[in-house]
Amino acid sequence: MSDNLFAPIHKIHNISLSGGYGSSVSALAAHYYGIPFRLIFADTLIEDGDLYRFNKDIAEAVGKPIIHLIDGRTPWDVFADKRWIGNSRTAHCSEILKTDQVRKWLAANAEPDEPLVLGMDWSELDRIERAQRKWSPRPVVSLLNKFKIGRPNYQKWLERYGVEGPRLYKFGYPHNNCGGMCVRAGQAQFATLLTTNPQRYKHHEDKMRETMERIGPTAKPFLKRTVKGETEYLTMKDFRELYERGEITVDPYDFGGCGCFVDEG
Ligand code: SF4
Repeated sequence: MSDNLFAPIHKIHNISLSGGYGSSVSALAAHYYGIPFRLIFADTLIEDGDLYRFNKDIAEAVGKPIIHLIDGRTPWDVFADKRWIGNSRTAHCSEILKTDQVRKWLAANAEPDEPLVLGMDWSELDRIERAQRKWSPRPVVSLLNKFKIGRPNYQKWLERYGVEGPRLYKFGYPHNNCGGMCVRAGQAQFATLLTTNPQRYKHHEDKMRETMERIGPTAKPFLKRTVKGETEYLTMKDFRELYERGEITVDPYDFGGCGCFVDEG
């Protein structure tokens, strides 16, 4: 692994505050261990409402403002503009709404050797290394790894600072990104969205339909299944109807993986 993981501690650490456990505990650890840092949040405008409460609580706990970056488009707007709906392989929503925003801000406001902190721990070393290649020459560091903080410790860190975790985790989502509607997510996450927040599911179902109409016949949805060895693409409407009729078997572990800041584009 690159030495970037152990970038000089006196440099300002630019923490990408995503709204998830990993980056928020990284902020708490930076505060606890006296590392200079900033909090940067790139907003996709489809986040869960409780994410803003959580980020605010973290910012207040560490006494830092949040640098709030907004492109102004949602992932659906990006898909319509690019005439391509993001999927598990190509998530240009993440590239444009998150990575580009943070990259531009850092280029204008941070020294080139100030590290970017991503909320990944030792169990995601492959993602950290991909992020290091993607962001080079800017160092990418994992404070969770540096201070040996793993997932079982996240709750203790939040309790130490009196911060309540984001509600999406309590509903069974593995990430607090895009309000539970991620184009990289698997069927289990869309089943979770449908059962825990049918209104939000309906909103995105409608957005998918509108976006596909705007793109035209080349539009391809991101959900899929295999039928008799053939890949079949499913709109969110298709998936909902199959699920409601009990005609699709959802792998309960198929949540997909979050790749924001790592390997989109
Ligand atoms: S969380 Fe998913 S949908 Fe949201 S920006 Fe990242 S890849 Fe796109």
